[in-house]
Amino acid sequence: MQSVTMSLDEAHALAVRCLTQHGADEENARAVADIVTAAERDLCHSHGLFRIPGYVASLKSGKVNGKARPAVSDLAPSVVRVAGDNGFAPLALEVGRAALVERAKSNGIAALALNDIYHFAALWPETEALAEQGLAAFAFTAAFPYVVAPGGRTPIFGTNPMAFAWPRPGKHPMVFDQASSTMARGEIMIAARDGHSVPYGAGIDSNGKDTTDPKAILDGGAQLAFGGYKGAALAMMVELLVGALIGDKLSFEAEAADNGDGGPPVGGELIIALDPARFGDGEGFAAHADLLFERILSDEGVRLPGDRRRKARETTARDGIRVQESLSRTLLELIGS
Ligand code: NDP
Repeated sequence: MQSVTMSLDEAHALAVRCLTQHGADEENARAVADIVTAAERDLCHSHGLFRIPGYVASLKSGKVNGKARPAVSDLAPSVVRVAGDNGFAPLALEVGRAALVERAKSNGIAALALNDIYHFAALWPETEALAEQGLAAFAFTAAFPYVVAPGGRTPIFGTNPMAFAWPRPGKHPMVFDQASSTMARGEIMIAARDGHSVPYGAGIDSNGKDTTDPKAILDGGAQLAFGGYKGAALAMMVELLVGALIGDKLSFEAEAADNGDGGPPVGGELIIALDPARFGDGEGFAAHADLLFERILSDEGVRLPGDRRRKARETTARDGIRVQESLSRTLLELIGS
């Protein structure tokens, strides 16, 4: 596949131009471009520049407010809310982070509820940023309904991702971030496009039968949660946390509210931050956790979640990133070049 090379700064500038030329203001465009560029830096291409046409489609259709001014308020001593003003998630996250950190450090635990946002990104940026400030953090968001409940045929849960980060003072935090579906939807779409099969366990056809045919999953079928009913329970938990708990959309409500422009779903996000130094072991938590990480890593061939992304940073900082030529062309068309 043909590709072009660009530096991370060039990728960032390109993302900003695409967004500002289609209705985002500088602040919102910069916040989205930061997230997109971080994904490219960490070789998470499916959440990098690949997403820009979707962001732009939502600006052009008027679904997303490109000039959103997210507003922070307190719901309780440890619960902060950001009203997203129907904008993309990244600026709302930035606006709410300082209050969440302050509340978590003063109370030991705090939550941030983001409402009326459009989330189309990986979740690790939110938890990693908190771990870098010394906090352990969970993040959850929902999506469109693609995943069936165990034994069912009708997609009801989003691919609902969940992320967790653990601070390691003086070291990189441990961060995992995973969807609740066996396979990312984008990977199934790519398999369908390229005529490849997908592994059993990825989804079912319209008759509820396990299939390896990605088209059968996408056309009337459904995706499966990872780990069978256990993963489905986690997908359901995410629906409850980001829908019912914080007064925002369940995945099927997000679908009903959507205009089909191919961009992100409207909905909420919940972030929970904990200050490990306030949970009984004081500063001892870090050395204790390191015992676990060291034991895990003593087994040959094992790595910690997040390590692949961090290693990727060395390469992309030095060599830049490779962007598929067709994607690069699409982005240049978006800025009229
Ligand atoms: P993956 O299955 O690729 O990875 C899940 C996690 O497992 C990562 O933290 C990864 O770390 C870690 N991991 C992978 N292999 C190993 C290994 N051998 N040893 C230790 N850890 C490992 O992610 P998914 O396909 O489930 O999700 C992809 C992304 O899609 C996520 O970022 C998610 O947030 C996003 N998403 C967003 C949605 C939205 O609506 N906003 C919806 C659904 C998904 P590492 O990164 O270091 O490889």
